[in-house]
Amino acid sequence: MSIEERLQDGCATPPGDNALMAAADGEADEATLAHLRSCPSCASRVAEIRAFQARLRLRLYRLYCPASDILVDYCQGFLDPYQRAAVTHHLGLCPHCAAELVLMERAAPLAEAFGYPAPSLVIMPLP
Ligand SMILES: [Zn+2]
Ligand SMILES: [Zn+2]
Repeated sequence: MSIEERLQDGCATPPGDNALMAAADGEADEATLAHLRSCPSCASRVAEIRAFQARLRLRLYRLYCPASDILVDYCQGFLDPYQRAAVTHHLGLCPHCAAELVLMERAAPLAEAFGYPAPSLVIMPLP
């Protein structure tokens, strides 16, 4: 698509990328919000930015996530208290790991049936 075409089906007075980014974050000023209400082209750009940010956030989450075997150890009570606290903290912030842990806990009775060690309910003593 050429630049002319972009302008044509786009917007005569675009608020600029920074304003659109702010709008995607829910931090747009009144002028930008008013513009978005009357400009489907910019409104759809904001929707695109939002979708992009959601994907980015998902990746960032996974970047800082503990490895799966750490979660398994957590599940089984094998972590030292310091690691355990860190994972507990992470689980409070990260819906992905929290969901993974739920899956692991659900799979635990299966693992037991197949002869794998079941997660113990040992509570680690606090340091
Ligand atoms: Zn516009
Ligand atoms: Zn995580």
